[in-house]
Amino acid sequence: MNRESRLEFIRSLPLADIHRHFDGSIRPRTLWELSEKYYSAVPGLDFEQFRHYLQWDEEQDSTLLDYLDKFHVPLQYTQFYDNIRRISYELAEDAYKDGVRLLELRMNPLIHRRAGLTTRQVIAATRKGLGNFAAEHPDFQVGIIVIAMRNHGGNMARLLLREVIGEKEEYHDGIGVIGFDIAGHEAPFPPVLFTDAYALADAMGLKKTAHAGESEGPERIWEALDNLGPHRIGHGTSAGRDPELIKRLAADGVYVEVCLSSNLQTGAVAKLSEHPLPKFLEAGVKVALCTDNPTVSSTSLAREYALAMETFGFSEDDIRQLAKMSCAGTFLADGCRCAYGE
Ligand SMILES: [Zn+2]
Repeated sequence: MNRESRLEFIRSLPLADIHRHFDGSIRPRTLWELSEKYYSAVPGLDFEQFRHYLQWDEEQDSTLLDYLDKFHVPLQYTQFYDNIRRISYELAEDAYKDGVRLLELRMNPLIHRRAGLTTRQVIAATRKGLGNFAAEHPDFQVGIIVIAMRNHGGNMARLLLREVIGEKEEYHDGIGVIGFDIAGHEAPFPPVLFTDAYALADAMGLKKTAHAGESEGPERIWEALDNLGPHRIGHGTSAGRDPELIKRLAADGVYVEVCLSSNLQTGAVAKLSEHPLPKFLEAGVKVALCTDNPTVSSTSLAREYALAMETFGFSEDDIRQLAKMSCAGTFLADGCRCAYGE
């Protein structure tokens, strides 16, 4: 089986991506067009050079800082309602074409407020774009996870939660906020700072995930489990070094959202063959295979599944099981409606 036939098989399955960031999934072409519209294109820079500021380049990039650097350029265009709406629509379309039938898109609304939008307007624009696409494709399910940036601290996280309560999915025909997450620099902002925010998210009826153990060790994942009570952990890569933690994740039924290319690029794993994904599965940990940032990582969900087959020798049946498990990890109130649902 070559790459192309693998991708064809994978895209024939209903896929779910429950860890994908808005800012890291924008079409480079769209940003290029917007840069011309806003007269902000750098004179003399062509599209290929522009892409370098948005996408991982194996030749030139090697660190987490290189990775995070790719999120700067899009920010000047994601401050406007129409742009957020358009980007959200295109993002759903790209996912759908890749075989994704259930998408959970995550974003921190605060970083898109610099031109005066309110938190609710940012989410409303996202809902509008996603909702327009979903209305045209009844077999597509979508929801939004709100991220609090770790470096904004616990108080800001609680304020943010209060602002988004009116954007929950139940108030907006099923497309709205379904979950809460923390992301950003792990080391100086441990999970315990967000204990109250997670309690509030819980009281608001939101499901909970948390980025943890991506650049920090397993102790941060323990801390997240003990203090935040998450249903899922984003990345959780360092759990691979802690057999007791793997047992805990399995016993508690906590999902790990695994993003292979991203983990390799940010250095969470040195080599893909060393990724703990097979270890998690063998130990009975629930896993959802996800993209993190398709644009930044130059990948797609189908390509991540192909990578899993190529790296770990997963069979077609293994892939079917993994796709099914990923769907079942959804925060959507209705659960997954795809073919695995029955
Ligand atoms: Zn992430």
